[in-house]
Amino acid sequence: MNNDELIDTIGDIVRDVNARWGRDYYLERARNDEAPTEMYKAMADAGLWAVGIPEDIGGSGGGLVATAAVMEHLSRVGTPPMLYALTSFARQSILRNGTPEQIQQCVVPTISGERMISFAVTEPDAGTNSFAMRTAVKPVDGGFVLNGQKTFISGADQSDVMLVAAKTDGNNISMFIVPTDTPGITMQPLNINWHAPERQFSVWFDNVALPAEALLGAQGHGSSGMFDSMNAERVVVAAWALGLGYHALERAVAYAKERAPWGAPIGSYQAVAHPLAKARAHLDAARGMIYRAATEFDAGRKAGAEANMAKYLASEAAGAAIDAAMQTHGGSAFDADTDVITLWPMIRLLRIAPVNNEMILNYVAERVLGLPRSY
Ligand SMILES: Cc1cc2nc3c(=O)[nH]c(=O)nc-3n(C[C@H](O)[C@H](O)[C@H](O)COP(=O)(O)OP(=O)(O)OC[C@H]3O[C@@H](n4cnc5c(N)ncnc54)[C@H](O)[C@@H]3O)c2cc1C
Repeated sequence: MNNDELIDTIGDIVRDVNARWGRDYYLERARNDEAPTEMYKAMADAGLWAVGIPEDIGGSGGGLVATAAVMEHLSRVGTPPMLYALTSFARQSILRNGTPEQIQQCVVPTISGERMISFAVTEPDAGTNSFAMRTAVKPVDGGFVLNGQKTFISGADQSDVMLVAAKTDGNNISMFIVPTDTPGITMQPLNINWHAPERQFSVWFDNVALPAEALLGAQGHGSSGMFDSMNAERVVVAAWALGLGYHALERAVAYAKERAPWGAPIGSYQAVAHPLAKARAHLDAARGMIYRAATEFDAGRKAGAEANMAKYLASEAAGAAIDAAMQTHGGSAFDADTDVITLWPMIRLLRIAPVNNEMILNYVAERVLGLPRSY
């Protein structure tokens, strides 16, 4: 199967899951702060959690192209599975840096959707500058003791395991695999105003005892472990933004064909049609870059330039698509029941998180154009 056929096949599977667990279900879960458990189960039954995992450990392969396709299509139908996204890049990090036991314990159970992984990097004071993090471990006999605080950790309550970035010796960062029920961990939900079933948490680590096997990869090399999965993360996040952009656009086009306050459908006015047409052009261009980045990555190359450009292009294109969709809907855009304004916070967020577009452009300026670093 070539990449186009693979992406289309995944689209068909996703639409089948979506027929049972669609946008209304997703929003109802979001309103109640409940995990979309049935959707995740249906995804697992349809083999979507196995996508991107090597066949020799029970996955169905397909690499980052297939993973991005799952994220694109589920977002396109209005049910972006955030914990799937987080788990997909966390498990890439474990696959690349973990021991066979860590892969067996943490990655294999994700194939059946039994286990989900959250990702804890951001800290209140460090923000974008992860190297300024203060969460740290102290080596002790037989393991480590972890202390510190993370914030904005999505799905911390719905995940079984958290991948935590912490300082080890001096300024070096290491990654730790931490079960979320380990004694000494407390969580407090943040009041984030978006419409998703995953909440964000401040998470405190108070003398959390970790066994030596919690360390992922070599001690002090966590930043390379973290960066290893970052290009995959950029691509999956780009696919998430892209799918939501197409979703917003489809809704706007349908409305523009129907709404006719002057007699003719508003979609016949170029002032309405052109922003929608432009959004389509930009989304399609971003899509090309996403699958180019994923194909490069799957071929064993780092694909840093393509992955960063894909994240930038897709999040900006999705931003333009939701803006055009809101303009097209006029006042109705602000009625939450129309479910247009409800799309906006998540699409807007994807220009800021998991990495803001300024940092993406910094990467392109320095690494692609060779310009001096400014920060
Ligand atoms: C809904 C949600 C979910 C999240 N989920 C997670 C999660 O699961 N795990 C996790 O670890 N984190 C998560 N985050 C945190 C997110 O990754 C951070 O908010 C993001 O990385 C930006 O950090 P900050 O908010 O501290 O912004 P700051 O670092 O304070 O930056 C603020 C702004 O300054 C600008 N800026 C910063 N640095 C530079 C620079 N060097 N050059 C140019 N401009 C710059 C950017 O415009 C940026 O938006 C989540 C956040 C939200 C809101």
